Amino acid sequence: MKNIITLFCVLFSSTLLLGQYPGWQQKVNYTIDVKMDTDLHQYAGEMQVRYFNNSPDDLDKVFLYAFFNAFQPGSMMDVRSRTIIDPDSRVGSRIYALPLEEQGWIKDVELSLNGIPCKVSIEETIIVVELPESIKAGTFGDFSMTWNAQVPRQIRRSGWMNKEGVEYSMTQWYPKFCEYDHEGWHSHPYVGREFHGIWGSYDVNIHLPSGYKIAATGIIKTPKEEAIESGDWHFTATNVIDFAWAADKKYVYDSIEVDENLTMNFVRIPNIIYDDQWAELPRFAVQGMRFLNDFIGRYPYPQYTVAQGGDGGMEYPMMTLVTADRSLPSLVGVTIHEMSHSWFQAVVATNESLYEWMDEGFTSWIESECMAAISPTEMTKPRAGGIHAYAYYGYIQQALSGNEEALSTHADHYTTNRAYGVAAYSKGEVLVEQLGAIIGDEVRNEGMREYFKVWSFKHPGPTDFKRIMEKTSGIELDWYFDYFVNTTHTIDYRISEVSHIKSKDILNVLLEKVGTMPMPQDLRITYNDGSTSNYHIPLVIMRGNRQLSDGEELGEDWPWTNPTYSMEIKTEGKRVVKIELDPNLLIADTNRENNLVEFKSRGKIEFTRE
Ligand SMILES: [Zn+2]
Repeated sequence: MKNIITLFCVLFSSTLLLGQYPGWQQKVNYTIDVKMDTDLHQYAGEMQVRYFNNSPDDLDKVFLYAFFNAFQPGSMMDVRSRTIIDPDSRVGSRIYALPLEEQGWIKDVELSLNGIPCKVSIEETIIVVELPESIKAGTFGDFSMTWNAQVPRQIRRSGWMNKEGVEYSMTQWYPKFCEYDHEGWHSHPYVGREFHGIWGSYDVNIHLPSGYKIAATGIIKTPKEEAIESGDWHFTATNVIDFAWAADKKYVYDSIEVDENLTMNFVRIPNIIYDDQWAELPRFAVQGMRFLNDFIGRYPYPQYTVAQGGDGGMEYPMMTLVTADRSLPSLVGVTIHEMSHSWFQAVVATNESLYEWMDEGFTSWIESECMAAISPTEMTKPRAGGIHAYAYYGYIQQALSGNEEALSTHADHYTTNRAYGVAAYSKGEVLVEQLGAIIGDEVRNEGMREYFKVWSFKHPGPTDFKRIMEKTSGIELDWYFDYFVNTTHTIDYRISEVSHIKSKDILNVLLEKVGTMPMPQDLRITYNDGSTSNYHIPLVIMRGNRQLSDGEELGEDWPWTNPTYSMEIKTEGKRVVKIELDPNLLIADTNRENNLVEFKSRGKIEFTRE
């Protein structure tokens, strides 16, 4: 999701870095059939589901989501959005004000396992199912299910008639099995934020009145013209964690082949206000797809669809729904962000409720890399401080405000929307970019590719990511993730004193760790002839150091316990004009002003910072 940031508050949270893939995961194959009543915005659904219990535990209950039940006055999502300090402007009190015919619901749920009825209770957005017989470890169970649903008037992500007139944005629309993994059940009530799902296949039949056009996850099995005429649509998708679709009679389709194995589809309601931007979108989207394929790894599905719908931008497997009325930079930006989720959510699907930084943060990081690579200066101004500068700025401002909440906070449980947004998107992006300061940019990039390769389709956790980066770099990183994920400690290093000692040719530089989080440091001395000396100072706890660049020298390791560090630098008679810490702006140093000392005149160098 593309984030909207608003206000502030305080909370500290600390949990262990957990979530390591245990070697097994559940699997669910859905066959779904729905008949839409487009007058009442209701549908009758039925599905057969084969649930593979690959866990080592016998299961005597299962949970399913009933997301539509969030769109009723008094729901947890409604209360949450009316009581949080900084409500999402798209929601606010809109759920509270919904008349009966515009509310969402899923009800009349009947479910059987292997032909035997189950005991079902609907606890708002979670359907609790007691099984008549347990599904033994290592076996599967066949569920049959029927239900009735009313699609809510579009408020958040899903619903009928979004603000741009798209008739159906059908996301989080069917009863979907909650994930069970080595960390247990994840039956989080829906309050409007993150999702998590089980890998599986979908075979979906949708019956609408004649004339509707659909954009969906998966591959269409019916000839499109026939489906438009008959209203009977059939899609399949394999190895996905969700299935979304959108429908409108006015939709037009555009397609472009990225290569022989991948087609991109663009679906929108034509409108003179944004048609020009949409005409430009495919070439940027294709460039983005190609860049991400090279940069991270091959997109594994045969199609990707960008469809108008929803209420901003939201990612689904093989598809995104975005609002259409945007400037070209905004349209390309939102498309690239949501498309980037194909790597870090759709394919490397971490539990984004627990580890939102591995979802939104990693996505934001590759989005920034992608935008810098594809978007010419015609669209974006180069950012001072590099392509990730916006993320650094956002994180540092939040950290300095005192309202930061640790990245390890459950996505639903941040005190404010702003704290969630800054943590998940900005600090998550900084976490990846800043790894460059520790293990080097190229090794970090290689690590990201390796992470995608090793952990595709496996629901990895933070420890899995840390281990990939450790193995790729040969550097210990437990301290980095512990500080940056589990705490709100901040980084600030400064140049404390500079003086000549012994002779004019030896400079003594005293560095000081002012902040509470340790980081390796880069020091650059610039001379009056424009030449530089560069030093890299690793931490003892890294048990190694990144590869040095040409001419760069390695300083002694800095023990994190030591507040100061002193270096002797041979200047070989050259006049020093500038001494700088972290000259490549890789570190989220909360006070950069004390990173720099400049000497304007000749003579004896002496500098002390109080
Ligand atoms: Zn996102």
